[in-house]
Amino acid sequence: MRRKSRKVKIGKLHIGGNAPITVQSMTNTDTTNIKETIKQINELEDFGCEIIRVSAPTIEAAKSLKEIKKNISIPLVADIHFDYKIALEAAKYVDKLRINPGNIGKEDKIKLVVDAAKNYNIPMRIGVNLGSLQYDIFEKYGYTAEGMVESALRHVKILEDLDFYDIVVSLKASDVPTMVQAYRLFSKKTDYPLHLGVTEAGSKIPGTIKNSIGMGILLSEGIGDTIRVSLSDNPIEEVKVGKKILRSLGLRKDGVEVTSCPTCARTNIDVIKIAEEIENKTEKIKKPIHVAIMGCAVNGLGECKKADIGIVGGVNNTNLLYKNGEIAGKVDKDKIVKTLMKEIENFK
Ligand code: SF4
Repeated sequence: MRRKSRKVKIGKLHIGGNAPITVQSMTNTDTTNIKETIKQINELEDFGCEIIRVSAPTIEAAKSLKEIKKNISIPLVADIHFDYKIALEAAKYVDKLRINPGNIGKEDKIKLVVDAAKNYNIPMRIGVNLGSLQYDIFEKYGYTAEGMVESALRHVKILEDLDFYDIVVSLKASDVPTMVQAYRLFSKKTDYPLHLGVTEAGSKIPGTIKNSIGMGILLSEGIGDTIRVSLSDNPIEEVKVGKKILRSLGLRKDGVEVTSCPTCARTNIDVIKIAEEIENKTEKIKKPIHVAIMGCAVNGLGECKKADIGIVGGVNNTNLLYKNGEIAGKVDKDKIVKTLMKEIENFK
């Protein structure tokens, strides 16, 4: 059962309510390099990114968002720290602001930002990170999930006091148990939609594991409305991992899912190479297809019967192609990738 959350509009999409859980990422280009930033956003969209966040550390960067917005089709979020003037500039062009109201300064400045968000009808995300808790909260709670929740609630109250409720909240930590605990605690206290993330999760393999465990636990408990995988890698990898997390939990169906066996002494075809090639060639395909690539009949027959398209390695090159759970012919081992790709392309 998914936690009931308030639905917040972000451009052409929604976060929360019954809206599909979305995958987002962040550019790592210089925002003032408008051409490169647009190129990266469009590339990320090709791989399945649904919402993009761009840092605006300066007024010049915030002004660049105008041209960026015109040349992309997914919702654009401006990431802003402290400076209300940057927030006011960015609000003119973007679909959401990521800014912590408690860090803006005096109340009149906060009010200006909130009024701009109301005026442009855009939501705000409050992003609490364990590493940057306010000093008094740190003094009271230390670096804990309780401290993160207290901090998020404080930011939320500032916005609510100004009659602003289009709020998304994240409570990120680099250690998984603290992050999980923070989201669990916060999810019981409000109905604001939650942006999940394990922050500073590390490079590709350790980062993928941390993100998958942290978000996987929460999503399987029904907590979370949008996700951002954080990796010290090309943001395309973040999008791919995000998609696979949702797909693994059955929360999204789009894209090609490959089931492949780990190989053993019974393996009759080069499963590892075939699986890798098929995964790479199908990365941008959005239609939902389940492909099984299995080295022998032991587990191969059952897996292929469950898949849309499958291949089972057989002795003496008697490899069987499956379509919709039925045997559809034999394939020479050198033609497996080509045959599978043709079947994937033709699959309806
Ligand atoms: S499917 Fe066959 S080849 Fe693959 S791991 Fe299982 S027993 Fe080994």
